[in-house]
Amino acid sequence: MSYRDVRGQDVLAAIARFDEVGRDAFLERYGYDKARRFVVVHNGKQYDSKAIVGVAHEFLDGRALTPGEFSGGHATVGLHLRGLGFVVQERRDPQQLLLQPRGGARDGGPGNFKRTIEKGVRLADHADAFGEDLAELQALYRDGTAKLWGNTPPAPAKQNSLKAKAIRGRRVGDRVLFYAKRTFIAEAVILKLFHNPAAARSIWGADKTGETFEHMMALGDVRLIREDATDLVLRATRQETLRSVTLVPAGKFVTPTEQPKPTKPSPDGPFSVEQHMTELLTLHSPERSAKSESVALLWTIGQVGDKPRLHPLSTFRQGVSMVLTACGVEGADEVERPFYDLRRTSFWRIDPEETPSSAANAPEPRAGFTDEFHRLLMDVSFRTKAINALRSRHLDDIEDHESLLASVGLGDYLTVSGGPQRDADTPGERRRRPNQGSSVVRDPKVVKKVKALYDHTCQFCGTRLSTGFGYYSEAAHIRGLTVHTGPDDLENLLCLCANCHVQFDGYGLYVDEDYVVRRVRDRVEVGKLRVVPDHPIDAAHITYHRELCVIAPPTSP
Ligand SMILES: [Zn+2]
Repeated sequence: MSYRDVRGQDVLAAIARFDEVGRDAFLERYGYDKARRFVVVHNGKQYDSKAIVGVAHEFLDGRALTPGEFSGGHATVGLHLRGLGFVVQERRDPQQLLLQPRGGARDGGPGNFKRTIEKGVRLADHADAFGEDLAELQALYRDGTAKLWGNTPPAPAKQNSLKAKAIRGRRVGDRVLFYAKRTFIAEAVILKLFHNPAAARSIWGADKTGETFEHMMALGDVRLIREDATDLVLRATRQETLRSVTLVPAGKFVTPTEQPKPTKPSPDGPFSVEQHMTELLTLHSPERSAKSESVALLWTIGQVGDKPRLHPLSTFRQGVSMVLTACGVEGADEVERPFYDLRRTSFWRIDPEETPSSAANAPEPRAGFTDEFHRLLMDVSFRTKAINALRSRHLDDIEDHESLLASVGLGDYLTVSGGPQRDADTPGERRRRPNQGSSVVRDPKVVKKVKALYDHTCQFCGTRLSTGFGYYSEAAHIRGLTVHTGPDDLENLLCLCANCHVQFDGYGLYVDEDYVVRRVRDRVEVGKLRVVPDHPIDAAHITYHRELCVIAPPTSP
């Protein structure tokens, strides 16, 4: 028997013994070292994962495994524990939880949160103000965008307030839970603590009393969440509501993301298209790995051919790390993680199912999409939307999507029209594209016709661009001609200004059921689609275009 035979009940028994004798005695008795990286989290407490599995074996067949008998890495013990439904994560010491208010609208809380936590602060914009802290921040955030938060100094007379204690007691590695009213809205880990009034003033200005948020934190692994905070706050502080930043020991509390996720309904589905899309949009992984996982998924989508197939680890590693390196995403050296970790989703499978053995003659593991997901991806519209989901949610800070998509063989999916840029109107002006040449010939007569119908006035925003030699407009296909096989006729054309055309072609604008033009990002109305009587637009094309867009969920009233 091996560690892979260990059952959930054995793990629970080992955890009980750990609690009974204490960590040091437990590790010493069985000869295990402290876990360097991975721990099992159970009821908010951390347990050394390898030791737990080794000792759990004793409850299975009467003999604990010695540390030398098996490897304790993420790909072995970690995946086995996860498979049993346990939460496995990287160790974080010391274990403290910082409950951090976002602040109300009066203090600019929502705006600041969006700007410096959700989006992040470009270090270059405040380089002088950061002073000596700049170099370390640049090392922490290779892409130059930092997630920062700060607190104003506690009043000198209140050195024993919750706030003063929290600011003094915070440590690098502590977990931060942001809350607004009684809801947790984000969690993160402290990467760096620093006191820098100049930087705080440069980023956030001052509050209404003239103080600035000078006790600063640089944060990593930021995840947006939405969890009722009442229970945790009550238990942590015995207060109904929290008013200030508060530090509590984490050991006693299960934070929202440690609660076990609902398990998949069944190993092989069937899953709805919406379920798959939700999984792609969330990915449920720390921020850093969401990026490398998304690139890995794009690479795999680029490999989709007529038949479903799995990719050997070596091929996967080579392909994905090349793309990661090319677009400057960290994690090129950890490509094995998405290979194994994506198994938690409903659309990824690994062969062999068993955690790989290290034996020399073991077959190389292979991974890829399930047959069902492959079938869905064969549909161009679903494929486009899947690609857009990954691009818009996890890869939106990568500047050059043209290179990114080209490097995974998905260059045609950059825009609705397929091109690297919007198409110029006359065939002679079109940029040549390496992957499709000039196989799509556009009809100059319909282009002329649609522009004449509107006399070069944009159907979205009403703009009429004028040059020194007359008016300028662009004819935009609603359903792209290339991968989306739209027809080159008047029913599929709009007369747009250059700005609206770029956004419509780049999945930034869509037309809703009532022909209102809206932004994909937040559904904000930007205009109404104007249609003249002689212009027979095919509503099916409008719908087709809309369904490719990853439209933001409606905001609650
Ligand atoms: Zn316009």
